Amino acid sequence: MVFLKTNEEIELIKESSLLVGKTLAEVAKHIEPGVTTLMLDKVAHDFIKDHDAEPGFLGYNGFPNSLCTSVNEQVVHGIPNDIPLKDGDIVSIDCGVLKNSFYGDSAYTFEIGEISEEIKKLLEVTKECLKLSVAQAVTGNRVGDIGYACQSHAEANGFGVVRELVGHGLGKNLHEEPQVPNYGRRGRGTKLKEGLVLAIEPMINLGTKNVRQLKDGWTIVTSDGKPSAHYEHDVAIAKGEPLVLSTFEYIEEVLKSKK
Ligand code: MG
Ligand code: MG
Repeated sequence: MVFLKTNEEIELIKESSLLVGKTLAEVAKHIEPGVTTLMLDKVAHDFIKDHDAEPGFLGYNGFPNSLCTSVNEQVVHGIPNDIPLKDGDIVSIDCGVLKNSFYGDSAYTFEIGEISEEIKKLLEVTKECLKLSVAQAVTGNRVGDIGYACQSHAEANGFGVVRELVGHGLGKNLHEEPQVPNYGRRGRGTKLKEGLVLAIEPMINLGTKNVRQLKDGWTIVTSDGKPSAHYEHDVAIAKGEPLVLSTFEYIEEVLKSKK
């Protein structure tokens, strides 16, 4: 079912989305070679609890942690563990919170130390895919316009667009209709109406678009073992211009201060 939100409800989703951005910024302060994803998970868990909210992923369909931490060839749904991150790695960190009965859901791919030019380009293009997708999230457009914007930019750069996992509606549930694929055709799919809130989340692979799931029942990896990037924003559909509810501002402030 598609739920259209009132302005008051959109404000509450924004509050949750901003808390996710602040949580990821707190996590960003701790990201460096040697740190484990389990340590980052604890930082996020405690930060969310300290802000009168619940970690949105913890226990969701049985997920064991507060963050999804997906390293290198892991696309999404990676489970935090005690393996130290090392120079040249990337880690996609996806975070959800539940506050005032509404979810926020946002993701960012971080560099560990110095990464290769090739992977830098992947992160840059994936972030551009998110920006181009979000720009299509306005009344009158359709879900296919969002996917088309993402797919055409990723493929023009020679990257693979994951098909099996998609963006989604967001609200009192972490995943609501409609599904928001990162591929598609212009003018196709659900019509975007005012009050619809979407989590838009390109997952872009350096190599093949194909993925598989690890035996842990969660982690999705690229089938060729090449790296993958993931960025996610929560967006309310409005007339003329999309209303982006989440932000990378806090994260990027921290990253800049670390340079
Ligand atoms: Mg997410
Ligand atoms: Mg999501």
